[in-house]
Amino acid sequence: MKAEIIAIGSELLTPFRQDTNSLYLSDHLERLGIRVIRKTIVGDDKDDLKAAFAEALARAELVIGIGGLGPTEDDRTRDAVAELLKRKLVRHDEVVKMMEERFRARGKKMPEVNLRQALVPEGADWLPNANGTAPGLWLATPEGKIVLLLPGPPPELKPMFEEYALARLRAHAPKHVFATKVLKVTGLAESEVEQRIAPIYRPYTNPETTLLASPGQIEIHLRGTGGDTGDALRRVEELAAKIEDALGDAVFSRGLETLEQVVGLYLMMRGATLAVAESCTGGLLGERLTSVPGSSKYFLGGVVCYSDRLKQKMLGVPETVLKRKGAVSAETVEALAKNIRRRTGAVLGVSITGIAGPEGGTPDKPVGTVYVALADAHRVKTEKHRFLGDRERIRWQATQAALDLVRRKLMK
Ligand code: AMP
Ligand code: MG
Repeated sequence: MKAEIIAIGSELLTPFRQDTNSLYLSDHLERLGIRVIRKTIVGDDKDDLKAAFAEALARAELVIGIGGLGPTEDDRTRDAVAELLKRKLVRHDEVVKMMEERFRARGKKMPEVNLRQALVPEGADWLPNANGTAPGLWLATPEGKIVLLLPGPPPELKPMFEEYALARLRAHAPKHVFATKVLKVTGLAESEVEQRIAPIYRPYTNPETTLLASPGQIEIHLRGTGGDTGDALRRVEELAAKIEDALGDAVFSRGLETLEQVVGLYLMMRGATLAVAESCTGGLLGERLTSVPGSSKYFLGGVVCYSDRLKQKMLGVPETVLKRKGAVSAETVEALAKNIRRRTGAVLGVSITGIAGPEGGTPDKPVGTVYVALADAHRVKTEKHRFLGDRERIRWQATQAALDLVRRKLMK
């Protein structure tokens, strides 16, 4: 079953108001197994509204309109839908009574304009509004499609949806269930991931596969359907296993864990401790590590050694190295990892130094050049990276690479 959501209101086309209701609705629809295929935002214009509803009804079995059910001139959803579906608008005395009651409870008389809200398209059901005057509307078209109209204010829409619309939708929702799985990958570009796994997932229409790329991380989302949970899960697991085989240890999570959580888990399992020396990331690595509850069990701390002087004074990077090779060099990052490990007594020392930009790049060390290193008692492993993007993305990717260095070491 496919659904579309139409958010109505000229204010939603300005920078000042956002359509948040559709996020709430798509979450519920998703869980019902109803797929939202399109969202539209339309201003308070009757012809635009009619066109939007007509187009949505041509594509989807369920169309939910949000807003424009108020008492004022710019509330045109009711009229637009009635015109489009050729339904007369009939005043429902029950709705009038409910609205009058609402006003009376506050010691007021209902203004004339509110009577518009009691107009219900012929053949439609109205849904009570516990927190406002505008009732919701539920219409079935001769083609068996459903139009659901809900009021715009979230405190009105949400209770109405949950109390009156959800059960009705459930009766129309597909009888199969969904299962999802997320694989998270780091250290490979999106195109590399795609190249390796496309031949595997392409033959499958169930599960569906989606790749979501963010800096330093690719997520592979699998979504399968089946007659029951076991069936749906089996389909997802089967494809996930094949994809994992193709990607090997580039997959760091088979669930929702972040890279720092996975690294924390490994450190705990090995009973190892970690300390960090950060230059261009300015503490971001420490921040990510300590964002995990319980990280005090394995994370000792670190040094933000931004200046050359601090690299030298606090972490013993030789002056000659800084002079000849520079602060962004394999020699510097190696000394940082080795010395932060030694000075803190950690099992592992990790370090980062690089050029986050936008200034400071040179032809042989362009912006995005980052060195990361990992030292244990015996050796130091050093990597040189060239990241693309703005300062924030480069810094994030640098921490991603450093965390992955630790992960790969502990995996073995
Ligand atoms: P309306 O039902 O069109 O009179 O909308 C009344 C108010 O509800 C608007 O001024 C907005 O503040 C809010 N609203 C309308 N549509 C949305 C939406 N899609 N998401 C969040 N708030 C909304
Ligand atoms: Mg409005």
